[in-house]
Amino acid sequence: MRIVRTVAQLRETLTPARRAGRTIGLVPTMGAFHAGHRSLMERAVARCDVVVVSLFVNPTQFGPNEDLDAYPRDEERDARIAADAGVDVLFAPPVEEVYPPGFGTTVHVAGITEPLEGAHRPGHFDGVATVVTKLLNMAGPDVAYFGGKDAQQAAVIRQLVRDLDLPVRIEVCPTVREGDGLAMSSRNAYLGPTDRERAIALRRGLDAAEAAAAAGERTAEAVLAAARAAMTAYEVEPEYLALVNPNTFAPVERIDDRDVLVLVAARVGPARLIDNTLIRPNGAPESA
Ligand code: AMP
Repeated sequence: MRIVRTVAQLRETLTPARRAGRTIGLVPTMGAFHAGHRSLMERAVARCDVVVVSLFVNPTQFGPNEDLDAYPRDEERDARIAADAGVDVLFAPPVEEVYPPGFGTTVHVAGITEPLEGAHRPGHFDGVATVVTKLLNMAGPDVAYFGGKDAQQAAVIRQLVRDLDLPVRIEVCPTVREGDGLAMSSRNAYLGPTDRERAIALRRGLDAAEAAAAAGERTAEAVLAAARAAMTAYEVEPEYLALVNPNTFAPVERIDDRDVLVLVAARVGPARLIDNTLIRPNGAPESA
């Protein structure tokens, strides 16, 4: 695996493959790899000829009071994991390579960025949309891989690719979980033993929402009340708990025969965690 730090090196590395008509896959990440990241890499390796993983803790997607400085960083370990997964190129640029002096452009996706994560993390999706647009332009992949755990982020990226006619296919992969159901996240590293046990509240809330819907509850109010009660048992208060249309992220008041996405965010001790599940009234429930 080659490690490159500049856009010029990245392009130089990928040009021969592109000219030879080989497919290029990109997995954008902020590092601190876990099995969720690894699943994206493995899928990319299985389906593309050349795989690039970007490792960049993007400062513009962190709010002023968020965890940019504390965010876990271990490039050596990450490089070993990526190489082991069969990744060809690790693109790990310094901040000045991505945001040189004088940088002045922001990509803003309207609408879908407004509720939920967008409402609780002002500016977050502008940072995400801007860096993902840049990474797609830098690597020029045929396919880019994202995790379903960040469901709203994936929807924002799908929309930006559509709106800006970016020549890339976006694949969203299933959430990888710990044995007890906790969605894997680099931020789980912030959890001490007690908070680690409480963190399961998010998944249990989603389980309760699924169970309520399966038992015939049709109103968002009843389904979300069941989820909230399950979380309260762990003394975890959701920052938001919502039932939305999985494509538009518009709130859903009543479940009919269409899929609905249940999303949750909560602070558990020092960590802010998110999770979601897709309720499929016409099929088996499945994590998004
Ligand atoms: P991050 O490094 O947290 O920015 O995540 C990089 C990519 O990995 C994003 O597309 C995430 O959605 C995805 N990802 C993070 N956690 C998981 C998980 N538990 N399962 C699957 N994908 C994940």
